[in-house]
Amino acid sequence: TEKNVIMDETAIRRALSRIAHEILEKNKGIENCLLVGIRTRGVYLAQRIAERIKEIEGVEIPYGELDITHYRDDRGAEGSEAGEPGAQTVVHSNLTITSGSSGIHDKKVILFDDVLYTGRTIRAAMDALMDCGRPRMIQLAVLADRGHRELPIRPDYIGKNVPTSKHEQIEVALTEFDGKDEVYIISN
Ligand code: 5GP
Ligand code: MG
Repeated sequence: TEKNVIMDETAIRRALSRIAHEILEKNKGIENCLLVGIRTRGVYLAQRIAERIKEIEGVEIPYGELDITHYRDDRGAEGSEAGEPGAQTVVHSNLTITSGSSGIHDKKVILFDDVLYTGRTIRAAMDALMDCGRPRMIQLAVLADRGHRELPIRPDYIGKNVPTSKHEQIEVALTEFDGKDEVYIISN
């Protein structure tokens, strides 16, 4: 097994700064925008972008978190970040909006996840969101896009494109959860 750093702390900080600026540019500000992080690490990415946007624009942007464990069509709930397919039924949505917004109706929702792979998680996230209301638009931001899409889904904002083989995996460490900021590629 070989493990190589592909983004260090500085690279992650710069990528997130760039994404914050791209979000502001694409949306001509942040009016009616809501940042939504997907379960563990996407939530910290959404929070960091919210902080960055506040620094740049001086305005608070609402953000929330989405748990779509029960929406996945092909994955067990445990230890399965990039794991083997397992049965999973649609149960309920779990959207918590942490600050500043009453809901997603008519909002431009910007979804955040750490790694984009087949696209199935994002499809599930969109299902979960649609169950909470009718957003005006959904955009997608990811820290790393490792390719191998199985659905017609593409990110609007990408920290880093990381062409991988199916045998490789990406490991994302974020300070809030892992004690440091680093992205690795792991080859077996
Ligand atoms: P997808 O649903 O697009 O196949 O996979 C994306 C989801 O699985 C994301 O929530 C992501 O956290 C996780 N994932 C898929 N592949 C990887 C990977 O190589 N590394 C990490 N850290 N997560 C992955
Ligand atoms: Mg994930």
